[in-house]
Amino acid sequence: MKAKTLVNICLMLALIFGLSACATVPYTGRTQFVLMNPQQELSLGQQAAEQVRREYRVSTNPRYTSQVQRVGQRIAQAANQPDFQWSFTTIEDRSLNAFALPGGKVFVNTGMVDFANSDAELATVIAHEVAHVIARHGAERMSRVLLAQVGGEALAGAFNIQTPGGRQAFDAAYGLATNVGVILPHSRAQELEADRIGLILMAKAGYNPSAAIDFWSRMMRAKDGPSPPPFLSTHPADDTRLREIRGLIPEAMRYYSP
Ligand SMILES: [Zn+2]
Repeated sequence: MKAKTLVNICLMLALIFGLSACATVPYTGRTQFVLMNPQQELSLGQQAAEQVRREYRVSTNPRYTSQVQRVGQRIAQAANQPDFQWSFTTIEDRSLNAFALPGGKVFVNTGMVDFANSDAELATVIAHEVAHVIARHGAERMSRVLLAQVGGEALAGAFNIQTPGGRQAFDAAYGLATNVGVILPHSRAQELEADRIGLILMAKAGYNPSAAIDFWSRMMRAKDGPSPPPFLSTHPADDTRLREIRGLIPEAMRYYSP
C-alpha cells in the first residue's frame, strides 16, 4: 500500500468511526495502519497467552528460565515502552522456536536457549520478537485482515476477540485457529523492520549487535539439518536476510556501548 493511500484511509476511518487508525513505528518512523489501541492489543495478547499456556508446557527449569528472564528484562528496559507489559516465558520444547504475542508476551523454547551460544545470541532472538511487539506488527496484520474480511461498518466494534469478526481476524493473523503458536510468517518488510529495530534494542541493552550475524548464519545452516527449525517457517533465513542484517549493523552500533 502506498504511504499516501494509507494516510488517506487512516484519515477517512478516523473521520467516520473516530478510530485512530494510524501509528508511527518507533526508530523507523514508518506510518502504519493499525485499528486498535495498545490496551486492546494487551487484552488480545493475554487471551492468546492463556491458550498458549494450556497447549504448551511452561518450563520452570532455572537453567533456562533465568537466562531468558535476564536477557528479556534487559531488552524490555532498552525498549522503554510503558504501553506494553512484558513477560518472558520459557517453553519446554527442544525445537528451535520463539514468538511474541501482542502487548508484550514473549515465548522462547528451551531448544532455542540451547542453540544460542551466548546471552548476546539469545538477545538476537528476543530483541527481534520484542521489536515485532513495539512495531505492533501483529495488530497491523490483524487490521489488514479485518479491513479485508469485515468491511467498514463492523470495524469499530470488531476488536473484541470475543466477537466473530475479531476472533476470525486474530486467528487469521496469528494462525491460532488450527495450531497455537504456529504463527503465520510476517511479511518480508515486517521481518526486515524487526531485524532493524531488534539490532538497535540489542545494542541499547549492551549486547553487541554483531552477534546477530553468527546467530543467523548458524540458523541458516540448521535449515539443512534433519529437522528444520520451526522458527524458520516464520523467519526465512537466507543470504538476502543475512546481507540485510550486515547492512544494519553500523546503524545499531551507534546505540552500543559495552
Ligand atoms: Zn520475525
